[in-house]
Amino acid sequence: MNAEILAIGHELLMGEIVDTNSSYIAQQLAGTGITVRWMSHVGDDIDHLADAVRRGLERSDLLISTGGLGPTSDDLTREAVARAVGEEMSVDPDILAWLRDVFARRGMEMPPTNIKQATLIPSATSIPNPNGTAPGWWVEKDGKHLVLLPGPPREIRQIWEQTVGPRLASMSGTGVIATRTLKTYGLSEGGLDEILSSLFGRENPYLGIYAHTDGIHLRMIGRGPDRSAAEKVIEPMEAEIRRLIGDAIWGADDDTPARRAGALLVERKQTLAVVEGASAGTLASLLHAQPGRESFFRGALVPGSGPVHAGHEPATVDPDGAIILAQLARDSLSADVGLSVTPVSRDTAEEGATPAGSVFIGMVSDAGTHVATGHFPRRNAEWVMQRSATMAIVELLSALSSNRI
Ligand code: AMP
Ligand code: MG
Repeated sequence: MNAEILAIGHELLMGEIVDTNSSYIAQQLAGTGITVRWMSHVGDDIDHLADAVRRGLERSDLLISTGGLGPTSDDLTREAVARAVGEEMSVDPDILAWLRDVFARRGMEMPPTNIKQATLIPSATSIPNPNGTAPGWWVEKDGKHLVLLPGPPREIRQIWEQTVGPRLASMSGTGVIATRTLKTYGLSEGGLDEILSSLFGRENPYLGIYAHTDGIHLRMIGRGPDRSAAEKVIEPMEAEIRRLIGDAIWGADDDTPARRAGALLVERKQTLAVVEGASAGTLASLLHAQPGRESFFRGALVPGSGPVHAGHEPATVDPDGAIILAQLARDSLSADVGLSVTPVSRDTAEEGATPAGSVFIGMVSDAGTHVATGHFPRRNAEWVMQRSATMAIVELLSALSSNRI
C-alpha cells in the first residue's frame, strides 16, 4: 500500500508555520509498513485543493491530509474533497449534536459557522476528535482511502493513536507494531553502525539509526499479531544492543537528557547549580521543567556583560575558568554539583587551542572536575543557546553516570 501526505494551509506556503504534521504522519506510516511516495503542500484554495486531491487519489492508495477543517470560510478542505469525488456535503445530525454539546460544556453557544464541521459526504465516515471541534473524515472511494485530519498537532496525535493508527495497521496486514528507542552518547553514527552491523538490515525487528542533538538514537520496530508479541520480537535485539554498547546508552523512548540527569541527581541526593553565559537561561528553563526539580535544582546564574563575581572578567574564560565558574555557581547557590557553560572568549580563541565559536562546559563536585569543549561555529545566537544547553546536560549526564563527578 502506498501513501501520500498532503499538508494544507496558506500559512505553510507563506513560511509562517513549519509542517511538523507531515513528518509525524510519515513516521507513523513507516511504523505501519505503509510506504510514503509523495508529500506535498497546498494553500487554502478550493481549485488547487481539489486538483491536489484528485491527483493524490489517482496515484496513491491512501491520501492523508492535515489542515483546513476549521470553521471559517478559508478552511476549504471538506468542500474541495466533496468536489474532487463528486459528492454533496450534508449535515450529520449526530456530529451536530456532539458539536453543540462540546460548546455547551465550554459554557458557550455554538456559532453558526461551526455547522460545517458537522458535515459529511456519503462516502465519508467521521473520525472522532477528542481535543477539538473538527472531526476528521475517512473517505472510501473506488478502493482508495482518503483521511482528512485537522491542523493542530496535539489533535492529530490523539486521533492517530485512537483511530487512524490502529485502523491502518489492520488494513496493511502488518498487525500491531511496538517500538523501542535506545539513546546513546559518546559514539559516532559510523562507530555504532560498525559495532551493530549484524543487527541492521533485518525486517522484524527492524533497526534504524538516527542522529539527534542529544546523541545517536537506535530505534527498533517489531511486528506481531498483538502488542505483547510485537514487544517480544524486540526483546532479544535490545538485549544484544545493551550487551554490545550498554555503557553508551543513557536513556530510552521518551527519556530526555534533562529528565535523566534530574532523576540521577535525585537518586544520588545531590543538588545542582549552573552558570550559563553561553546558553543564557536555556539550561535553567530546561531544568526547571523537570519533575523533582525542587529537590535537585538550586538555581542558575546568567551572566550578561558584567562579571558574575568580583575579579571575574566575563570575556576571558579558559578551561580553568570553566571550573572556577562551576565552583562559583556551586558555592554561591550551595549546591553539590556546579555546572558552567561559557562561550570561549576571543582572547582564548586567539591562542589557537580552541577556535572561536566554541563553548566550554565545566563541572565540579566533591568527586572531581571535568571540562568538555563544544564547537558551535554557526553564529545564530539562539541555535548556540539551544545546542550548548543540550550538550551541557548530556555531558553532565555522562560525567554523573561514570562517576567522574
Ligand atoms: P487549520 O486546521 O488549517 O486551520 O490549522 C489550525 C492550526 O494547526 C494552524 O494554525 C497551525 O497552528 C496548525 N497546523 C496546521 N497545519 C499544520 C502542519 N502541517 N504542521 C504543523 N502545524 C499545523
Ligand atoms: Mg488552515
